[in-house]
Parts: sequence; C-alpha cells; structure tokens
Amino acid sequence: MDLYTPINEINKIGKYYSTRLKKLNIQTVHDLLFHIPSRYEDLSQIKHVNEVAPDETDTISGQIWEIRNVRTKYGKNLTFATIHDGTGTIDSVWFNQPFLTKTFKVGLTINLSGKIGHFNNKLTLINPEYEIRYKKERPIHTGRLVPIYPETAGITSKWLRSRTSNLLNILSPKLNEYLPNPIIKRNKLLDLKTALYNIHFPDKLEDSIKARERLAFDELLLIQLSTIKRKLEWQENLSSTPLKIDQEKILHLISTLPFQLTAAQNQSIKDILTDLAKNTPMNRLLQGDVGSGKTVVATVAIYAAYLNKLQSTLMAPTEILSIQHFQTISSILNRLGVKVGLRTGSTKEKGDFDCIIGTHALLSEGFKFPNLGLIIIDEQHRFGVIQRATLRSKSQSPHVLTMTATPIPRSLALTLYGNLDLSSLDELPEGRLKIKTFVVPPNKRNGAYTFIERHIKSGNQAFIICPLIDPSESLESVKSAKEEHQRLQNEVFPELNLGLLHGRLPSKEKQNVIEKFRRGDYHILVSTPVVEVGIDITNTNVMMIEAAERFGLAALHQLRGRVGRGLVQSYCLLFTESTSKEVIERLKLLEKYNIGLKLAEMDLTLRGPGEIYGTAQHGVPSLKAASFQDLKLIQQSRKEALAILEKDKSLKSFPTLMEKLERFEEDISPD
Ligand code: ADP
Ligand code: MG
Repeated sequence: MDLYTPINEINKIGKYYSTRLKKLNIQTVHDLLFHIPSRYEDLSQIKHVNEVAPDETDTISGQIWEIRNVRTKYGKNLTFATIHDGTGTIDSVWFNQPFLTKTFKVGLTINLSGKIGHFNNKLTLINPEYEIRYKKERPIHTGRLVPIYPETAGITSKWLRSRTSNLLNILSPKLNEYLPNPIIKRNKLLDLKTALYNIHFPDKLEDSIKARERLAFDELLLIQLSTIKRKLEWQENLSSTPLKIDQEKILHLISTLPFQLTAAQNQSIKDILTDLAKNTPMNRLLQGDVGSGKTVVATVAIYAAYLNKLQSTLMAPTEILSIQHFQTISSILNRLGVKVGLRTGSTKEKGDFDCIIGTHALLSEGFKFPNLGLIIIDEQHRFGVIQRATLRSKSQSPHVLTMTATPIPRSLALTLYGNLDLSSLDELPEGRLKIKTFVVPPNKRNGAYTFIERHIKSGNQAFIICPLIDPSESLESVKSAKEEHQRLQNEVFPELNLGLLHGRLPSKEKQNVIEKFRRGDYHILVSTPVVEVGIDITNTNVMMIEAAERFGLAALHQLRGRVGRGLVQSYCLLFTESTSKEVIERLKLLEKYNIGLKLAEMDLTLRGPGEIYGTAQHGVPSLKAASFQDLKLIQQSRKEALAILEKDKSLKSFPTLMEKLERFEEDISPD
C-alpha cells in the first residue's frame, strides 16, 4: 500500500465504504489523509468520578465493573455500564445499542466522553462516546482534542478517525518529505509527517494551527508552481513576430468611437498593445462586469493585428453573442477597411476575412486561418481546455486574449491564474443608470409588494428570487420558490400573472416559461437563482431577492445584473429575516458598490472563495487546507515557487516535488 492506493483496496474499507467516501471526494488513501477536520471537540479534560457535576460534558477513564442490557416495558433496549476509576463509580447508559455488551467486557479499561445527566435518580453519563483503552495506545475518540470531520451518510467522524489513525500508523514510514529542507526552514514549517499527524490528532490547538499552515503552504505552493511553470513554458517555447503598433492609426480609431473610453479601458488597451509588441505571445485575461465595455477593447486589439496584416478571430459561447459582437465590431472597423466575417452553426460566410467572429463552428475541421495572429475568447469558462487548444493549433503561436465577466479578486488571480496576465475593467462607463439597491427590513415587505405592483402597472416586469425550490429542502424558514409562487399568486398579487422557474423543470418547460415571461404573459417571474445565467429581458426593472444573506455579494451582484438592461431606472430589493448586524452590514455593501470586482474582493475577505463561485464550476480548485484570503502565505509560497523554477524550470532536480505536482495537477484539473 502507498499514498495513492485506491481506497476500496484497503482493509476494513472495501466497496461498501468507498462508494460512500466518494461523496466526500475521497478515492485514494491520500484523499483520506487529507480529509481535514472541520473542527476539534475538546474532550481532553479527564475528570475523576467524584468531581463530575450534572450538565457538564466530561471524559471519565476507568474500569468496567459491570455491564448489562435492560429491556423497558415499552420495548426499548438500554445498556448500562458501571465504571470505577479509583475515586468512585458512575453509571453510563446507551439507548438501543444492545450489541455493546459484546464489546465491553468486565475488567477492560475504557474512556467515556459525554454529557452528565440524571438517570434513575443517579448521575449518569448519557449516551457517551466510548473508547476501549489498550496499553500504550493513545486514545483518538476521547480524552483529547477529538477531530470532527465533514461527514456523509454512513461515514461518521468516529469511523473516519479510526481509519485515518490506522492508515497514518501504517504509512508513517512512507510519508516522505518532498519539500526541500531550506524551504521548510525559511518558512518555519512543520515537516510533512508531523503536520499530517497533528492536523488529525493535535495535542493542543496550536499544533493543529501549525499543521494546517504547513498543508496550506503546500497547496498554495503547488498551485503556483503549476501556473508559473505553465507561464514560463508559454514564454519559452513560443515566439511570435512582434507587432508594430501604429499609435496614430489606433488613436484615430479611438477618436471615431461615439464615446470616451474609461480610464480602465485605456489602461487595458495599453496592456494589450504592449503585449502585442513583444516577441512572446500574449496570454492575457481581461475581466470586467457585464457592460463594462470589453468588446471595444478587443476591437482595438483586432485593429492592431490588422495593421500588421494578421488575421484575428473572436470566439463567443452562443450564436446570439457572436452576432452581437459581429455587429458591434463591424460597425467600428468596416469603415477602416477591415473585413469582418461571421461564422456560426447557421451562418458560414466564405471569403477572405481579416477578422472572423463566431461560435465553436470556428473550430470545425478544414476551417483554416492562413495568417492567424490573434485569438480572442469571450467568457472563457464556458470553453474547455481542449477547444482552446484546438483553436490555438490553427496557427503557429497566436496572441491570446480571454475575456470574462466573472470577477476574480487579485489574490485569487495571482495564484489561480498566475499563468495569465490580468487586466481589469473596474469601472463602468459614465452615464449608466445605477441599479438602486435597498436592503428591506421584514416590516416593509408589504410596502415592497406595493412598489412592485406600481411598476408593473406602468408596464414593467419583475423577478422574485428564492434560494430553494421545495419547502422540504429548507431546514429553516427560508422561502422556497414553489411555495412562494403559490402564496404570492393567491394572496399578494391575485390580479397578476406569475410564472415559476427552477432548475428541476425539464429544459423545454424552462424555455417555455422564459419565453412567456419575455413575451409579457407573466408580470412576475418567481425563480430560483437559475436566472443568473442567460436571461436578458429588457422590460424587467425590479429584482427582489429573498433570503439574500444566503448568497455571496458577487452572486447577488450578478443576479441584480439581470435587470437594468433597458432605459428605465431599475431596482434591487434585498430581503433577509436575519437580524444579525454583520449580515445587514454585508448586504448594505450592495447599496453602495456596483462593481463586481470590488464586491468579489469583499466576499473573499468576508466569506472565502467558495462563496464567490459556488462550486468548482469556475475552475477554482477546492482547497483542503489553504484559503485564498491568506495573503501572507500566498506571498511566501509564491516567492518559493519562483525561486524553485528559477533554479530549475523542469523541476527535474526536485523529483519528489515534481511527482507531487503531477499528482496535484491531475487532482485539480477542472476539465
Ligand atoms: P461587456 O463588457 O459586457 O462585453 P460591451 O462591450 O458589450 O460590454 O459594452 C456594453 C455597452 O457599453 C455597449 O453598448 C458599448 O457600446 C458601450 N460602451 C463601451 N464602452 C463605453 C464607454 N467608454 N462609454 C460609453 N459606452 C460604452
Ligand atoms: Mg461581452
């Protein structure tokens, strides 16, 4: 057995548990050892029997004097044990676990941790955690800081503890350090073996903190080794002909635009033109909210390529977006002599184009770009790595610009997208109507409904977003879309037509609902957050969000971006039943800020990256120990990653680290 042995091959795990472990993303021994406790329960205080008091949670260590099963007259099974520890005896009771008498033999030493209560008028440990003590073995379930893990059906923390402890012992000789010693010293890290042991079974809380720091350092180091290595390879293996930038002509193009560029647009254009003039191909990410004006930045790059007699292509995820880009870009560039073409599933223009815009259809075999110099990809997350590679392979070493509306805070970008250079459009063009946003207290709910009704009477439409679909999904009193749709239709807006949209509708039905809403058949669409993607209905001007505290700021910002596309003033009403001051203050940030990137950065400090992006859907690897908020650790590990790669780009002289990195890349690869 080694670290990468599949978990189902392990004694006492097998197929039964391995299918359950899969739900926790545990497939190898390594995954299990890196399944990190979410917290520790402090059961370290061992009390003498003569010291215990009711309502305390205590650990007792003593000998079993008696053990017996009792059946109550209502048919319940009770198991009683009497424990003696030299200072006295105490009873312990378990409910419906009669098999315990097979495990507990009189005379064994046992630790019991649990709540002290009254039973049969005596102080008694009620349903305590138990652990039989054998000589020399350290306890893992009682009498210490006890790790509590993320669990799933059939997998308890107790089970995880036993298996982890067992595997740590067996594998101990094979847990070889893979970090070079100077790195460990410089960064005052624990060695790997100690860190792994202490993350699961720390003696003190500080030990677990140091352990987590070591494991977090590793994760951040590996991510950065991976991205920086890719960047170096990109720069090294590829060379492009540097473009000559004709400032005058570019300034002329900009002067023909019907608006003034924002400072952020100007800066991004400058970044891009500087890249294009280098002899290594550009690999840049341009991020900016919907409406921040990414297209015109891309257009300038296309023009610069054209002036160097190079073709460009822009790939968009849908036909509608391709057509939109085609219209915008040709309206700017046609009069300057640039031939712009469109190629989608249904349009296959032929001819010699300087710039060709389209969907995946661009990737079809046989479609050639004799002279491709620049590739622009809009909304990168929707294209896989393979598609991007196919596009790249159509030319020697084209410059690549990727555009995204997903806000990526700088610290995340540095680590995750360290292989890309980054430009951000962190301001919106002037004169945009800001979506007026209000956090609405529960007692103003009816006022909000009147407000919505008024806007509908003047011809607009509204969204009402609920976080859940079914009432049954909710543990608390969070409104579900189905239930709320009923209530609003029957009790609040009986005269209006309300549609219902959620992710469990068959996709045809979904289309149908959206179409009816677009046509105006529904005044209000009650929906789960599925509307976050892909709906653009200009007639809506109110977005009301229930249980807003359940969303990250960036997610709320993207939701409210569904309204405000038209010319009338739009509103976003945020509801929460929460009375917590922090929650309200967090939501109020949306009243003040309207830039996705700023909000994502605040999310990151307030709630962590998982909350910004939901799941791994955006290619953000789920970190086990590290956090993207930990700027200090990010910087330390970045410095080391750069130093390592400077010494040896291939990593061949760090074989253990290289192996680790290869495993890691396999693990986090989003595609
Ligand atoms: P996105 O970043 O979402 O792709 P677009 O490039 O589609 O944004 O731009 C949205 C709209 O804003 C377009 O109609 C575009 O013409 C306009 N626009 C872009 N830049 C500016 C600017 N600096 N001032 C005013 N309007 C602008
Ligand atoms: Mg766009």
